[in-house]
Amino acid sequence: MYDVIILGAGPAGLTAGIYAARGGLNAVIVESSAVGGQASLTAEIENYPGFESVNGFELVSIMQAQCDRLGVTFVFDNPVNVSLEGEIKRVTTAASGTLEARTVIIATGALPRTLGLPNESALMGGGVSYCATCDGAFFRGKPVAVVGGGNTAVEDALYLLKFASDVWLIHRRDALRADAILADRVKSSGVKIVWDSVVTELVGENKLRALTLKNVKTGELSSLAVNGVFIAVGQTPSTAGLTGVELDGGYIVTDEEMRTALPGVFAAGDVRKKSLRQVVTATADGAIAAESAIKYLNTTR
Ligand code: NAP
Repeated sequence: MYDVIILGAGPAGLTAGIYAARGGLNAVIVESSAVGGQASLTAEIENYPGFESVNGFELVSIMQAQCDRLGVTFVFDNPVNVSLEGEIKRVTTAASGTLEARTVIIATGALPRTLGLPNESALMGGGVSYCATCDGAFFRGKPVAVVGGGNTAVEDALYLLKFASDVWLIHRRDALRADAILADRVKSSGVKIVWDSVVTELVGENKLRALTLKNVKTGELSSLAVNGVFIAVGQTPSTAGLTGVELDGGYIVTDEEMRTALPGVFAAGDVRKKSLRQVVTATADGAIAAESAIKYLNTTR
């Protein structure tokens, strides 16, 4: 029996682990993939206070080491059943059995959204990618495109300039959603921005050869020859199998103390409904969620 089960080992879950352990809780973090979540795929984080620039993987590795030093248990397994209602919460994993605790912190994050094109999943690994940091180097000297107009798309496009012969940024509107500092940087970089356009077709059998683009204002179709396309059109919160918590647009609703609609259940990080999804807000959420779990245990024991 643990005091708290933390679902997810991204910056929110790892910070919750640090604060829970320092607060005297017996904490376990359950992660179905690798430590670090999306932050670990970010080559350079330039807005985490205290660091001029830090590699995302290095940053989360330090958080993991802090958890290890404080005695937080890690279970790398897929949760197949999560029971959040009732006084005792249970998380059943595929291979490690059932974990029990009186509190749960949901820090499962979000996954990249797809474009929903017919051959999109078939071309993954054949030119379609959702992670520039992971796959950018495969496109050395080749033309690539990035789809999206947010911070991720702009950062990806700037990063890909290091490798690709040409980088196009395809955005469905005539203004970027990205922060002004990044938007200004990409406009004065070598990235070629294609405004008011969406991808309607991924052309290629086993390997991507081109994109068919449609100008949403004129309806005009055009072809863009690329070997890679990096899709950065936002994220979908990872809430599958989590029943009983209130959702809004798929994201978990909490109060300022990270409490969900269920007693003893808290949420932190990108999976939570909030206005700013950054490493710094994820870590802040994780700290608050752990403190709230401590308070909950102290008042209900
Ligand atoms: P985002 O901010 O939600 O932006 C998604 C972009 O994709 C938008 O420009 C959107 O267009 C476009 N889009 C959505 N669906 C589309 C579709 N079906 N076809 C074509 N385009 C589509 O997502 P994000 O860039 O991944 O960022 C997610 C969160 O992480 C944000 O809060 C962001 O600030 C944060 N983040 C921060 C940093 C940083 O500060 N360094 C880095 C990465 C991410 P519209 O603009 O027209 O809606």
